[in-house]
Amino acid sequence: MTNVIMLGPPGSGKGTQAERLSHTYGWPQISTGNILRHAIEAKTELGLKAKDAMDAGELVSDEIVDGIVAERISHDDCIKGFILDGFPRDLIQAKALDEIRKIDVVFDIRVPEEELVERLSMRRVCDCGETYHLKYNPPQKEGVCNSCGRKLYHREDDKVETIRHRLQVYHSQTEPLIHYYSGKGVLVDIDGTKHIDDVFKNIVSNLPDEAKQ
Ligand code: AMP
Repeated sequence: MTNVIMLGPPGSGKGTQAERLSHTYGWPQISTGNILRHAIEAKTELGLKAKDAMDAGELVSDEIVDGIVAERISHDDCIKGFILDGFPRDLIQAKALDEIRKIDVVFDIRVPEEELVERLSMRRVCDCGETYHLKYNPPQKEGVCNSCGRKLYHREDDKVETIRHRLQVYHSQTEPLIHYYSGKGVLVDIDGTKHIDDVFKNIVSNLPDEAKQ
């Protein structure tokens, strides 16, 4: 069993890397941000509770996300491992997770702040999960997803003012997790400024040995 956490600020590429790991090793990618966005789109009770905090770039309550993750990792497809993408985001969540599962490795993907702002403000996303960058990875047809043909959009929380706030939230609430997991001996620093393929190679080479067999 290999349980992985992708840590790193918004825009560091942790979702992209989590998706690749998931395709390569078969462990499900559990993205709390995606689960919450789908709930908002489907107008469920969960979505209604989460929407205001998400639009403002604030964290959704620990109680809500802890419940989502505990339920999701109890599914059979997590028996061989899972990849958490966007969770935990503060110490309360990390401690709640410790109560239910042992974590084998935490990848801290590092990217300088100005590059994060540039990446997020130029990011366009599709509901199918594809993401684009207007300059470095534009869609073939403007505003349309290459893989499913749906209309791309700019996430409300990817607008510049909200990005700055999300980064502040990251520094104050999520960054302490670096110290927390480093103390447990499971933290691995990853340079997130390299090409996507090189970042992935670096992550794979730092997986625990049992995962690579
Ligand atoms: P993300 O897609 O990971 O950038 O998450 C988008 C937004 O979803 C965040 O800014 C939060 O509002 C909310 N969110 C996602 N994961 C969590 C979490 N673990 N704890 C609290 N809020 C979260």
